[in-house]
Amino acid sequence: MKPLDPRLLKRARGARVFLLASVLIGVLSGVLIIVQAVLLAHGIAGVVLRGSGVTAVAWGLAAVVAGRALLVWAQEVVAQRAAAAVKSTLRRQVLEHSLKLGPVWLSGERSSALTTLLTKGLDDLDPYFARYLPQLILAATVPAGVIGWMATGDLIAAGTVLITLPLIPIFMALIGWVTQARSRQRQHALAVLAHHFADVVSGLTTLKLFGRAKSQESAVRRVTDQHRAASMGSLRLAFLSSFALELLASLSVALVAVGVGLRLVDGKLGLETALMVLILAPEAYLPLRQVGMQFHASADGVAASEEVFRVLETPLPVRGERTDVPDLRVNPLYLYDVTVTYPGRDVPALEGFDLELRPGEVVALTGPSGAGKSTALAVLLGFVAPERGVVVAAGSAADEFDPAEWRRQFAWVPQRPGLRLGTVADNVRLGRPDASDDEVRLALLAAGAADLPLDKAVGEQGQQLSGGQQRRVALARALLTDAPVLLLDEPTAGLDPETEARVITALRSTGRTVLMVAHRPTLIAAADRTITVEPAAPRELVNA
Ligand code: ADP
Ligand code: MG
Repeated sequence: MKPLDPRLLKRARGARVFLLASVLIGVLSGVLIIVQAVLLAHGIAGVVLRGSGVTAVAWGLAAVVAGRALLVWAQEVVAQRAAAAVKSTLRRQVLEHSLKLGPVWLSGERSSALTTLLTKGLDDLDPYFARYLPQLILAATVPAGVIGWMATGDLIAAGTVLITLPLIPIFMALIGWVTQARSRQRQHALAVLAHHFADVVSGLTTLKLFGRAKSQESAVRRVTDQHRAASMGSLRLAFLSSFALELLASLSVALVAVGVGLRLVDGKLGLETALMVLILAPEAYLPLRQVGMQFHASADGVAASEEVFRVLETPLPVRGERTDVPDLRVNPLYLYDVTVTYPGRDVPALEGFDLELRPGEVVALTGPSGAGKSTALAVLLGFVAPERGVVVAAGSAADEFDPAEWRRQFAWVPQRPGLRLGTVADNVRLGRPDASDDEVRLALLAAGAADLPLDKAVGEQGQQLSGGQQRRVALARALLTDAPVLLLDEPTAGLDPETEARVITALRSTGRTVLMVAHRPTLIAAADRTITVEPAAPRELVNA
């Protein structure tokens, strides 16, 4: 693990400001530590050798202590601010990036792992900024200053410190190797735990129904046990390593002290210098030792930020910036030889698919489950970039256009309606927030959901509505937009035949272009044309 990930500095301005301020504070702290040791040595030697007063020295010391306290406070303030700024920057960047990557990428991620990362995971950056980084900077500035100053008084002592000091980082690096793997394990255990809980809770009714709820108990117990063991493992390692570093530092200081004592007895060293060296010696080791301690507190944060960078470095599909998207009310839309293979799959989800969609047409897309119908819609919307083939409108390829502008031509009802917390009206208005209540009612009527009150509450993921109701709300949402092309993924699944017939009539009467994934004969019969998507053959069979 790098002590400071350069990507963090590149991505977050807060981190750069913080680093500058911290270096300044670190240098000042080093100076104050030396002044304090000199004052102390001078005061003690004065009292012992010359019997002089201590008032002036005491005042000086008080000022130094106050100065150091002030620096600690300043460091804390700077660190907390930086941590908050960096966390919010990273969160925003991940959210923006995952939005650009689109729903298809998201469905390949474990959404609960992403949620843990963006909430709890990134919070682990707090100790990284508040404890580890400031200490790291102190470890770079203070020992150098202290050894330099010691060298002006006693070269041998300075040499002893210089030789023993590197032992601490060497041991730290050794311990670090082991901790890194542990921390990854812990992060992984936490992600698995989150995923498992989310899964169990969302499927609890089903599990209960099939009498499998009890058996989940042991699974949850096993996963929590793993997490506990991983946590205890990292703690054990943390305690052991700080013990080792403590011991090393104590022995080194003792070595310096023995040398200084011998030279003092021999009369080769004055009392004031000897005192100064003795007081300074532990100060050289302290920051390094503390870096070792803070290292463990920060490892989780660093692992989380690495995960963030993994998401941020997922390349975005290359898209143009043209905003003059052809109006699909008058221009036909073509798909030529479109082939899509999802990452990690060896069989294409859609292969050599051609489609012509003329304005005002109602086209049904049929084919067995898994044939690639939803994928074809995702290609049209620009959520997946085909590995081969193009989407063309008015002589231009779709990927030349700005994705947001391109999508304005489409209203999409996905297979899972994707409703949000709010009311029915909120959900219907999503694509056109300024629509009046009457327009919303009209859209609901056309979608066969006239019975749904506008202010009816919709739970997260549409939980307070039945499957058919969710679908109708999503359909009303699409109908309310003025997009020229409607992409409907099994729009009438879960509707009774009567409602379905009404929806079909409404769809036809809009005069818009409709491409719908259809299974039911009534829906297929209502289309002008039917296109069948053939499942792609596995590559081996093609070659054979
Ligand atoms: P359909 O809508 O016709 O049922 P899909 O287009 O949803 O089919 O899926 C086609 C194939 O691609 C299926 O084998 C499915 O498992 C796979 N697939 C769909 N989405 C993803 C994804 N995000 N990652 C990997 N494979 C996927
Ligand atoms: Mg599908």
